[in-house]
Amino acid sequence: MKIEKTVAIFGAGATGIFSALLLCECGYSVNLYDKNPKIGVKVLLASNSGLNISNNRAPKVMASYYADKATIFEQLLELFSSQDLKQLLEENNIEYFIGNDEKIFIKDPNQLKTIAERLNSYPKFKFFPRHKLTAISNERRFTVESDGITADISDFDYAIIALGGASYPRTGSDGSWVSFFQEKNINIVDFKPVNCGFYTNWSEKLIQRCENNFLKNIELKINGKISKKEIVITKRGLQGPGIYELSIELRREIEKNQKAILEIDLLPNRELDEIARLLEKKSSKESLSNFLRKRLKIDKAKFLLLMEGIKNSEDVSLAKQIKALQIECLAPFPIEEAISVSGGVDFNEVDENFQLKKIPNCFVGGEMLDWEAVTGGFLLHGCLAIAKRICLAIEADRKCFTK
Ligand SMILES: Cc1cc2nc3c(=O)[nH]c(=O)nc-3n(C[C@H](O)[C@H](O)[C@H](O)COP(=O)(O)OP(=O)(O)OC[C@H]3O[C@@H](n4cnc5c(N)ncnc54)[C@H](O)[C@@H]3O)c2cc1C
Repeated sequence: MKIEKTVAIFGAGATGIFSALLLCECGYSVNLYDKNPKIGVKVLLASNSGLNISNNRAPKVMASYYADKATIFEQLLELFSSQDLKQLLEENNIEYFIGNDEKIFIKDPNQLKTIAERLNSYPKFKFFPRHKLTAISNERRFTVESDGITADISDFDYAIIALGGASYPRTGSDGSWVSFFQEKNINIVDFKPVNCGFYTNWSEKLIQRCENNFLKNIELKINGKISKKEIVITKRGLQGPGIYELSIELRREIEKNQKAILEIDLLPNRELDEIARLLEKKSSKESLSNFLRKRLKIDKAKFLLLMEGIKNSEDVSLAKQIKALQIECLAPFPIEEAISVSGGVDFNEVDENFQLKKIPNCFVGGEMLDWEAVTGGFLLHGCLAIAKRICLAIEADRKCFTK
């Protein structure tokens, strides 16, 4: 016979909701607290542009997208792979499809709205909206604030804390939990933006003529990392999928050298020699912009960006500039605008099951831990895989109790 156990989950985001579903399914009493009036606010926002929940790559390949935590994530992905996730979706009649770059999307993100109903159908599940976790006194006494009233809660055997990172604070994930973790001497690595835009020093002319122009069919490079995705020229700099994909490299380079040089190949399907030969054919009567547009299909935005980049390196041949235009990125856009963050609870503070070493039976999951990944379904899948590990650890512990 299984012993009746209660789990308090703080944070009804991707990690908290998935943990609640797994634990309810195993018969636990689950109390889910969030400072928002409803569950999953950031996930619902993310689903506005189609919910990219995971990635179809094999665990080993997928793990390489988790930067310096690749080894940890390789183990997590062996435990809960995208194959496992697809099976779970199928069992629950949630349709998905695989888009470009192996991204796994939920076909109809509206189906997510039924998760609240699903949770509420479990008799031992309770949701406590507008309940903000404000302090942890010890492993059995947590303080929450609701409608200006502060109360201690201690009616639980295990706690899962999944309060998110510090980007898009309007979704509730504002990183305000850092202070009460630090009060418990838990080391927190500073938050930094990931999957964000970067400031450049554009001329007024470029902004006036190219603001919000997309650049497609390009190849971006920084420190050996490559992206073939599109980018957008904005008033402040560059953003878009290609920039997000390289955001970890760009940010790290800026931390080291105060700036990062992004190399843009404006014609990735043409060889340097071929471009150089074609350029030799330009007559002095024809304008350069016309020639490049007609003969090399370099559109207005690419041409103006080329002219902008050339200013800094006039001694380099035009063909070389077209193949490796150097753009200086000066700083990431503010963290509030980033899709995700790095930083949070230091991995040295948790054991292999994400249990806090200083607070037994209290687990920490999701983006509030110090890991980072680019977009492509790696973020949500990372949160779900961590949730799975935590729930398995709780279940293993409960089974020990029954012996
Ligand atoms: C615009 C946008 C698009 C995105 N698109 C994708 C995508 O396509 N694919 C992908 O993989 N990822 C995407 N992400 C990232 C993904 O949404 C996050 O990585 C994921 O939601 C993080 O889950 P989490 O459980 O760590 O925290 P969150 O989902 O952020 O949830 C944390 C919860 O904790 C609550 N909370 C915070 N502090 C307290 C407190 N003190 N007390 C009580 N509750 C509190 C918050 O209200 C929130 O509900 C996107 C993010 C954004 C902003």
